Amino acid sequence: MAVIIDGKKVAKEILQNLADETVFMSPAPGLAVIIVGDDPASKIYVSSKKKKASELGFNSIVVELPESVSQSELLAKIEELNDDEKINAILVQMPLPKHLDKNTIIEKINPIKDVDCFHPYNVGKIATGDKPYVYPCTPKGIIRLLEYYDIAVEGKHAVVIGRSNIVGRPMAQMLLNMNATVTICHSRTKNLADITRTADILICAAGKANLVTSDMVKDGVVVVDVGMNRNSSGKLCGDVDFSAVEKKASYITPVPGGVGPMTICSLMVNTVDLHKIQKNDKYS
Ligand code: NAP
Repeated sequence: MAVIIDGKKVAKEILQNLADETVFMSPAPGLAVIIVGDDPASKIYVSSKKKKASELGFNSIVVELPESVSQSELLAKIEELNDDEKINAILVQMPLPKHLDKNTIIEKINPIKDVDCFHPYNVGKIATGDKPYVYPCTPKGIIRLLEYYDIAVEGKHAVVIGRSNIVGRPMAQMLLNMNATVTICHSRTKNLADITRTADILICAAGKANLVTSDMVKDGVVVVDVGMNRNSSGKLCGDVDFSAVEKKASYITPVPGGVGPMTICSLMVNTVDLHKIQKNDKYS
């Protein structure tokens, strides 16, 4: 039976330490989240980010823009936040309406305020084995979990299912930078099971319930399930057939309670880290 990786507990500990550190920070770390339109899922994500930031005493603002906002209006808003000294971290909630050019918008964010690590400057830093200002929230949370449970990465075969800019790609590059041997799989990968069976560490970020079954993993594998799906009865589940895979794995993250809590935790840590970086920048 696997050790169940308790993301809720780890995130709580990290956030407690963060609260102890930030309580005396003046000015408070500032996080601005921009949301465009009325997508219900985005609204839930944004409100939970704001709630957590407010609990920590951050200067937390949500900029709500209508679905019809023009590209130039949105760019002007980002520019205003770039120039606002009380804001250390800027996040544009995805997805954006189709008439807005995502890349231009991301590139408008000052890289030193890029809390999600989406800007090509920061993405490029990771791709070249260098350090971005802060790492992307979900992969960073996963690395913290591996470290917390003393799971070695160096020399291991890490298989990452998914190649999105938010999870799969940066995850693979971060594991490579930690000296894992990395294989990236995606929807066109042939013989997925043959590859996953060779994984020492398997990161699943496809968004497909029950994609990974027990015959697709070897004994002792470490499984990190990023997926957030609804099963046929509407219950939240990951990409992995948890009850069967748990019997073969050495460590496994549950859904919910695994990676999810770490993502929002990383967002808070990143906001504080950017606050510190900007302070040092100013006085150096
Ligand atoms: P995404 O942009 O839809 O990317 C999914 C990736 O999985 C793509 O690269 C896709 O391949 C690949 N894929 C899809 N079906 C596959 C299959 N049958 N076999 C192999 N690869 C397959 O999704 P995302 O934003 O990365 O998110 C992935 C999942 O993680 C979602 O369920 C999302 O809700 C969840 N998520 C959770 C958190 C958290 O904090 N827990 C954070 C972010 C995301 P192609 O590139 O070929 O299309």
